[in-house]
Amino acid sequence: MSDCIFCRIASHEIPSKKVYEDDLIYSFYDLDPQAPVHVLIIPKKHIASLDEAGPEDAELLAHMMLKIKEIAALLELEKGYRVVFNTGEDGGQTVKHLHAHLLGKRSMNWPPG
Ligand code: AMP
Ligand code: ZN
Repeated sequence: MSDCIFCRIASHEIPSKKVYEDDLIYSFYDLDPQAPVHVLIIPKKHIASLDEAGPEDAELLAHMMLKIKEIAALLELEKGYRVVFNTGEDGGQTVKHLHAHLLGKRSMNWPPG
């Protein structure tokens, strides 16, 4: 989608600080980090949110989840990390392209804000 900022990042049209990339997903550092390590993982396919994902996306989402732990290892988050999918208005989603936040290198609070 040409008017979607994350589609444009995934296609390298908008620059970002890349962490990992393959045929299906792209990972890059968040511009406004909420932890010492804060990266985003997105599917290259435009899916507006988790709510818009369908059974046809099952393999893609499984791939994404398994890559998140590899990216966590790459970033040396051996003490643990948090993965967040903000979804919809109450979920605090601001960019309408499905993304996982991977946060680490500090202790996280529960419940989240
Ligand atoms: P959310 O609020 O869950 O939709 O998360 C969107 C995230 O994207 C926020 O943490 C923003 O800081 C981040 N973000 C927005 N634009 C960019 C960009 N161009 N490069 C990197 N991160 C971005
Ligand atoms: Zn998009």
